[in-house]
Amino acid sequence: MKASSSRLQERTLEVTQFNLVLLGPPGAGKGTQASRIVDEYGVPHISTGDILRSAVKNQTQMGLEAKKYMDAGELVPDSVVIGIVKDRLQEPDTAKGFLMDGFPRTIPQAEALDKALETLDRAISKTVVLLVDEDLLIKRLTGRRICRSCQTPFHVYFNKAKVEGVCDKCGGELYQRDDDTEATVRNRLEVYRAQTEPLIGYYDAQGVVVRIDGAQEPEQTFADIVSALGPGK
Ligand code: ADP
Ligand code: ADP
Ligand code: ZN
Repeated sequence: MKASSSRLQERTLEVTQFNLVLLGPPGAGKGTQASRIVDEYGVPHISTGDILRSAVKNQTQMGLEAKKYMDAGELVPDSVVIGIVKDRLQEPDTAKGFLMDGFPRTIPQAEALDKALETLDRAISKTVVLLVDEDLLIKRLTGRRICRSCQTPFHVYFNKAKVEGVCDKCGGELYQRDDDTEATVRNRLEVYRAQTEPLIGYYDAQGVVVRIDGAQEPEQTFADIVSALGPGK
């Protein structure tokens, strides 16, 4: 009896998927929460921003094309990012689920993701929306520093590295993103309001949205996310 119920539990766990979307304005803390979430739920972190920055760094055709948009704080065309995500979903590590960070950012991207998941007999489980006021977003973005090696975000006031300019996690060099300047930040926030915020309504219609106060300490924000999603381990 005991053995069979634990087998059953094993099977149930096997089919439990965490197909998660992390949504929120630039600076809301998506990258900061993502590393904690993927740890808790054992799913890969899929950040279209990280993938695009790596393409820019490697000067691939796609990177050269994307850089123009990124430096201006505009969105890279849907066809490019949809292609990236569809390819990524073919990787076997996504079988248990995934955490999308910075994707989708437009309604056509959300529709394309739903379609791609449907062909895999899957659907979004939850969309976590991080809410933060605009003034705080600007402070967070203009003080952000990122690790060149592992992409972990730090902040010159709110989340200092133990040694200035050096990543606590991997010892990599910290740098300021080209698009984290005040003028570009303002444009990115406008682009968010116009093109990405409507996704909250899109996912509300599917009944999958959880709204989280992103202005709290990172630990408290994470605790709220886990109580909304249920424990992963
Ligand atoms: P996003 O991925 O949504 O753009 P990040 O996770 O990169 O946001 O966070 C933006 C900046 O704000 C980073 O410098 C990060 O260290 C800092 N930050 C993130 N979450 C918090 C928080 N809860 N409190 C204070 N600072 C934070
Ligand atoms: P943030 O930390 O501000 O949320 P990201 O790292 O997610 O920013 O994205 C940085 C830039 O990369 C965006 O301003 C945009 O130019 C491009 N980008 C990332 N994801 C997408 C996407 N899903 N659709 C279009 N452009 C994207
Ligand atoms: Zn690092």
